[in-house]
Amino acid sequence: MKIEKNKVVSMHYTLKDGAGEVIDSSEGKDPLAFIHGLGMIIPGLEKELDGKTKGDKLNVEVEPAEAYGDRDDNLIQKVPREQFEGAGDIQKGMQFQVDTQMGPLVVVVVDVDDKEVTIDGNHPLAGVKLFFEVEVTEVRDATAEELDHGHVHGPGGHNH
Ligand code: ZN
Repeated sequence: MKIEKNKVVSMHYTLKDGAGEVIDSSEGKDPLAFIHGLGMIIPGLEKELDGKTKGDKLNVEVEPAEAYGDRDDNLIQKVPREQFEGAGDIQKGMQFQVDTQMGPLVVVVVDVDDKEVTIDGNHPLAGVKLFFEVEVTEVRDATAEELDHGHVHGPGGHNH
């Protein structure tokens, strides 16, 4: 069975950045299971999996535009320190959830001085080229219930 829209794909994967650092991996866990063709994984990887079958191994390089997007300098902002009153000792690397016009956004503190805190709302992997090593472990039809729910049931998916 080939991977195409509405098939459930299970795969083991290791994700590395350009320096060879492991960012994420399914090693030691259940394979990742998803319904193909619904945008549940990043577009650049989904495209390469199209037409593959169980047992296929592939190495996929994904440019930022096909992954988590390019970095947006508009998402880096300086905020008066008073706005963080009550948040304790603000330090570089701390994460906060803030409310924006587009909904909640996780921001990271990238700089801090006496007056201002500089926050970055870019996804941590924005602007990063990604390198996937993937092994397809299963391809099957999605059940009507899975398509209705928009997610996979069973190993690597929902248990309800
Ligand atoms: Zn469900």
